[in-house]
Amino acid sequence: MTTLAAYHAGLLCDAVDRLGSEAAFEVLARARELEAQGRSIVHLEIGEPDFDTPEHIKRAGIEAIEQNYSHYTPSAGIPELRDGIASFAAKLRGVEAWKRENVVVGPGAKPIIWNTLSALLDPGDEMIAADPSYPAYASCASYLQANLVPVKLLESKDWRLDLDELAAKVGNRTKVVVLNSPHNPTGGVLGVEDFQVVADLAHKWGFIVISDEIYCRTLYGGEFVSLAQLEGMRERSVIIDGFSKAYAMTGWRLGYGIMPEELARTVSLFNNNTFSCVATFVQRAGIAALDGPDEPVVEMTETFRKRRDEIISGINSIPGLHCKSPEGAFYAFVNVQAITHDDRKLATFLLEEGGVAGLGGSCFGEGGRGYIRFSYANSIENIRLALDRIRETLPKFNA
Ligand code: PLP
Repeated sequence: MTTLAAYHAGLLCDAVDRLGSEAAFEVLARARELEAQGRSIVHLEIGEPDFDTPEHIKRAGIEAIEQNYSHYTPSAGIPELRDGIASFAAKLRGVEAWKRENVVVGPGAKPIIWNTLSALLDPGDEMIAADPSYPAYASCASYLQANLVPVKLLESKDWRLDLDELAAKVGNRTKVVVLNSPHNPTGGVLGVEDFQVVADLAHKWGFIVISDEIYCRTLYGGEFVSLAQLEGMRERSVIIDGFSKAYAMTGWRLGYGIMPEELARTVSLFNNNTFSCVATFVQRAGIAALDGPDEPVVEMTETFRKRRDEIISGINSIPGLHCKSPEGAFYAFVNVQAITHDDRKLATFLLEEGGVAGLGGSCFGEGGRGYIRFSYANSIENIRLALDRIRETLPKFNA
């Protein structure tokens, strides 16, 4: 007799086996289960600012609901928001303004990444991405039956790309190269030299570069370098950005891509076929975020800087652990190789025994093996508590 579970399993298509997942959501679910059993957990797993959305943005969202901004919108987003993004994103990067037609808005940057890759990759095409990296890129490429070609990020180079490996791996099968700076999970930041090498290769081989710049407002020193600043790259690139990280708006779901017009039309077609459009009042709130005061964004980054200094000096004082000081984003990518290479086992142990939730680095690719990612989007008090717990629990770990 077929059980109901077996029947349901039989319904699923083969493509499902090719989907990856973001471990952060799974670890968060386990951490919540432990909390429901009465355990105290310090949450350093999920990558979201712990701040409230700034007041003026919340007001704009509430007013938009009251003014009945509650109907469908064009799939690429409302014109006012697309115009706002086209000029704001250009000013931030010091480049000539884009046009409305270049901007596609989605419920978060993640679906825009998915829809863009879906518009670009045929089975067998090659996509190059840094290893380790944000898991959504690999999951989508795998679903589309494209070949993911990893290029290492080097801890010894402050988590920049191994440019020799990149040059050796690109070729005429390369369709897409994905970059992400500031970087999740390492906190590394690419310099203009890195972008220049990628741009030269893009011109030589004709691939398109997806530059995920969603952490561009969380940078602790130096000027932000965008791929869009490099000559000739606007026609060869997709800039990914959004409101989740900069404005503490993760749950609102609002992000965007800036890309050549023809590609934008196709990505909008994918929007049309999937979520149709982003909630209208959320898009209105997005306009308020861009038009309103920038101080809340700057203050959040300053707070992250203090937390970074606290967690990095704490981690580096614990025997067996070491961590580069991240230059951007809000992640500490801790080298645990003196203790174990089984990062997931150690992350599970720290959660179950120590009450500290982090992510095994190998959830971000093979290049993350032997590291643990801690998100320091949490208060200084909680960061100190986590450090005390790690210091106490670590000696009990059986590698
Ligand atoms: N890109 C990177 C590198 C991320 O780390 C994230 C979220 O963690 C996203 C994109 C997606 O953000 P959202 O879909 O909330 O805009």
